[in-house]
Amino acid sequence: MTTDRILIFDTTLRDGEQSPGCSMNLEEKLRVAAQLEALGVDIIEAGFAIASEGDFEAVEAVARQAERAIVASLARANRADIERAAQALKPARRPRIHTFIATSPLHMKVKLGKSPEEVLEAIRESVTFARNLVEDVEWSAEDATRSEPDFLARAIETAIRAGASTINLPDTVGYATPETYGALFRDMLNRVPNADKAIFSTHCHNDLGLAVANTLAAVMAGARQVESTVNGIGERAGNAAVEEIAMALRVRHDVLPFRTGIVTTEITRASRLVSAVTGMQVQPNKAIVGANAFAHESGIHQDGMLKDAATYEIMTPESVGQAQSSLVLGKHSGRAAFRDKLAQLGYSLADNEFADAFRRFKDLADAKKQVFDEDIIALVDDEVLRGHDRIQVSEVEVYCGSTGQARAILTLSVDGEEKMAAAKGTGPVDALFKAVRAIVPHPEAHLLRYEVAAVTAGTDAQAEVSVVLGEAGRTARGVGAHTDTLVASARAYVNALNKLLVKRGRSALAA
Ligand SMILES: [Zn+2]
Repeated sequence: MTTDRILIFDTTLRDGEQSPGCSMNLEEKLRVAAQLEALGVDIIEAGFAIASEGDFEAVEAVARQAERAIVASLARANRADIERAAQALKPARRPRIHTFIATSPLHMKVKLGKSPEEVLEAIRESVTFARNLVEDVEWSAEDATRSEPDFLARAIETAIRAGASTINLPDTVGYATPETYGALFRDMLNRVPNADKAIFSTHCHNDLGLAVANTLAAVMAGARQVESTVNGIGERAGNAAVEEIAMALRVRHDVLPFRTGIVTTEITRASRLVSAVTGMQVQPNKAIVGANAFAHESGIHQDGMLKDAATYEIMTPESVGQAQSSLVLGKHSGRAAFRDKLAQLGYSLADNEFADAFRRFKDLADAKKQVFDEDIIALVDDEVLRGHDRIQVSEVEVYCGSTGQARAILTLSVDGEEKMAAAKGTGPVDALFKAVRAIVPHPEAHLLRYEVAAVTAGTDAQAEVSVVLGEAGRTARGVGAHTDTLVASARAYVNALNKLLVKRGRSALAA
């Protein structure tokens, strides 16, 4: 391998969406896919076409929308999966089938019930079959890091001979260390006779907090594609975070001399969008995209920063697309100022979305003197991204206090139809949630978590409520924002319920 260009394979819509509590509807996936193209990823894994009708439609819609990126669908090593993937990818300009099978002794025996020879035969058949349907086939050795090296080398050789042009060696269980993962790539690249006919790819999970370090070690060893997600979301502890990989390669180009196509100034926008649509907030101390990533609090640091930012800053907030916070909006700010602010924060809204967001901004400015960037982000995320939910909160009325039982009267719009219910509860939140249940019964679901945070300082701040619902082993997370905590609570609960409806449509398939 002589090239220094690293391909970014984004799996936010597939592995990322498998995060506990995550789910995205079709409109949300299309919005994320558009932002992934703006971010400059090379390949978008849009889903697992055979997993459900919803997944199939999402892969097909992303395939139709993508202008530049390769669009991939995941498929197990069987004809039905591969045919379904190819069908969903029909509208793609550049389709890729990503097929996988486990190669570790434990997985082959326990999960597949196949002998190593049978697994080799399955690789030969599945990759050949996929290649008859599309040009571009990626093959993954699931649980590669716990596979026996001699067998793994034979499996890779088989896949390449059958026509796979990308070979992915996932650390499925997050067990590798940088030394062992780098050594695996070096070993396979040396030992597999036709290794030069494929691009080798990483796929790291963060169970030990090593996903990005492992990814970079493999790049140093010859990998030229990395699989990653925005904000590092994914199964269990998540995947390698694309923003960390891209910035590590950029800031430390002296020791990591590789390029990606990532437009780093789109990072913040992508991070915000993904956390808004998934409800998975980024921890404040998260590298690159956390709220504190560029905050300096110690006096010595602040003093140094004022003299020269380079004293304590290895990269600028602007380089990852963080707008310098400037203008604070208020009650007298008009459409133009609001539009400017949205553009500065990285939002581009359709006319009807803008009208709705502006109306809510005016209400907010009436309730609250100063409207900060954080307020606008919470408001737009809440307003715009809920626009496609089947169930929406129309009106909330609550009676509560130290005398008598709390009561709530709630109106929801369900598939466009207004429905009202009243309920009593031990407190206003309980009464509200019972009213939601009265309108849209969901007896199997239970409330797992309810959290309130203030978007900014001050008693007039907007409340941001997050709710997690659980149902038959599935979890769904919803978020809602409003100056009234109870309205925010109703919005968050209903948002989680919408997510649960999306998840119900999906079978228990996962990889
Ligand atoms: Zn994974």
